[in-house]
Order: sequence, then structure tokens, then C-alpha cells
Amino acid sequence: LIRMENVEKWYGGFHALKNINLKVRRGEKIVLCGPSGSGKSTLIRCINHLETIKSGRITVDGTALTDSKQAVDMVRREVGMCFQQFNLFPHKTVLENCMLAPMRVRKLSREAAEATARKFLDRVRIGNQADKYPAQLSGGQQQRVAIARALCMEPKAMLFDEPTSALDPEMVKEVLDTMIGLAQDGMTMICVTHEMGFARQVADRVIFMAEGEIIEEAEPNAFFSNPRHERTRAFLGEIL
Ligand code: ATP
Ligand code: MG
Repeated sequence: LIRMENVEKWYGGFHALKNINLKVRRGEKIVLCGPSGSGKSTLIRCINHLETIKSGRITVDGTALTDSKQAVDMVRREVGMCFQQFNLFPHKTVLENCMLAPMRVRKLSREAAEATARKFLDRVRIGNQADKYPAQLSGGQQQRVAIARALCMEPKAMLFDEPTSALDPEMVKEVLDTMIGLAQDGMTMICVTHEMGFARQVADRVIFMAEGEIIEEAEPNAFFSNPRHERTRAFLGEIL
């Protein structure tokens, strides 16, 4: 569903992604981890064309991601994203937050957008908060709204960039449970997270990055019990 081939990314003189090759099959769940500054956010932002690449190729569902508006619109419609900061519109209610993009981008009628929004708000167990404003919700609730908002676009894949790392500990579980539910429903997911319990439970593959490179990838059991590279071992030693 998502394919990156020989992707190189530079920020000015800084080489942020080095020869990234990654294939994500439909329904597959990938956990991406690695030290701060290793390029995890950059990698997933490239998939959504929030960053442009210097060379290489990215395709989503068979369509090459070029700079054309058409290609960018396609990928933003088909690939949802959730960030550490929830990025909800503060002056819109929860329901309105979830209706905006489907109406503007998918051209749904107000009624259809509202029905879709309520369906996904219920799915993340927050349907009873639909008329509140983001500031009236807890961090965990806001992040679940952000997930529902992305799902309202009916994406083929979801990208998560440390969705729980800005949350108080007691709210981490409700967001992880929402993500686990999504995984069980068959969503294709790439998750940047250091929640290794989540990785063990849902990941088909764990990918470890350092200094802009993919150093190691393996299914979770092998990754945690028998990491092949010294840097992976050092990293796991620090976070586990
Ligand atoms: P973290 O775990 O801290 O979120 P990360 O693995 O997500 O780290 P990135 O945010 O992808 O790392 O950053 C990779 C490198 O690229 C870092 O060294 C960072 O300083 C650099 N970088 C990121 N964004 C920019 C930018 N807009 N301009 C210049 N350099 C950048
Ligand atoms: Mg990051």
C-alpha cells in the first residue's frame, strides 16, 4: 500500500534520511522507533508530503507521490495522520472538527459529514462529547478526537507520530486502546512510538532507525529478544 524506494531527504546541508526503503502491505502494522533526531518524524512526514524529498520514490496505493497538487491531494485523502500535539481547531466543536475535511475535501453534504463524524466519535468512545470545544476535554480525549477526525476521511492507512508522548500517564492507555482497536479492525498503520507494549501487541514489524537510516527491522519477538545490531541493543537498554 505504501512504498518508499531509495528515499533521500536533506534539510539544507543536513542529511536527514539516507536511502530509505520500506514497503507496507495492506493491513500491516509497523512500529518505528529510534533515538531522538534519528528521522522518524521526517520519514512519516514525507509519506504525507509534509516534507519534500530530494530523490527516490514514494508511492501510495500505486500512485507516485509527486509535487503535483493532484498527487498531494490523493495522499492526504487516503493517508490519515495523528501527531503528538493534537492540532484540533480550538474554536470549533469536536463535531465540527470532524466534519470540516470530509465536507471540504470529500465533498460530503453537511448531513453525511455529521453522520460520519458521529459514527467515528462513537467508535473512539467519545460520542457524548461531540458538542464540546477541545479545551474542555482531557488530553487523552482530545487525542481520540484527533484520531476520529482522521478516520472521518475513511483513510486507507494511518500514520501516528508519538500520539501518546504528550499525555499524562493515566491517559496513555485510552489512546493506545483506541489504536489497538483500529489495528484489530485491519487498518494499515505506521506508528512512531516508544510504547513497546503496544509494539509487542500489534506490530507485524518493528523498525529501528538511527541517524537517518533504517538499521534493523524484525517481527517484535525477534526484535526485542534478539536484536542483531549493537545500536538497537543500546537503544532498547535505555528505554526498556
Ligand atoms: P524525535 O524522537 O525527537 O521526535 P525524530 O526521530 O522524529 O526525533 P526528526 O524530527 O525526523 O527526528 O528529525 C531528524 C533530524 O532532522 C534532526 O536532527 C532534526 O534536527 C532535523 N530536522 C528536522 N526538521 C528539520 C527542519 N525543518 N529543518 C532542519 N532540520 C530539521
Ligand atoms: Mg519526532
